[in-house]
Amino acid sequence: MNELDELYQQIIIDHSRTPKNFGNLESKTNTACGNNPLCGDSISIDMIIKQENLSDLKFNGHGCAVCISSASLMTQLVKEKSCQEVKELFELFHNMLTKDEDSDLTKLQKTAVLKGVKEFPIRIKCATLPWHTLMAAINNNIESVTTE
Ligand code: ZN
Repeated sequence: MNELDELYQQIIIDHSRTPKNFGNLESKTNTACGNNPLCGDSISIDMIIKQENLSDLKFNGHGCAVCISSASLMTQLVKEKSCQEVKELFELFHNMLTKDEDSDLTKLQKTAVLKGVKEFPIRIKCATLPWHTLMAAINNNIESVTTE
């Protein structure tokens, strides 16, 4: 393993052990749940949308290290972004893990450390579940999301 891989691993481990923005919001405007039955990941996301901006969000639930660190990194990235920006980031993140093209990942900031997950196809859904749940919450989709 080279140094960069080790650095990436460390970020994922840190975020899965002490996730950021973990918990529930008292006065949420939007919420959604997501499940990945293949792995047993199950999370919910609460958010406050004000004037098309994601002013606050928190996630709760349980899952593997990839799922929890992805959710933690994602909440840091999208907080205080506009709904339109969040949709663009979702596309970028999803393409990073599902398409072969090499795109500019600068906008993804630290969430780009999850790129390595692409080498483990069974884990891709663990990494994308928080993002699908996020999009469901933004669209106020009251049905729960499943990767199956
Ligand atoms: Zn998982």
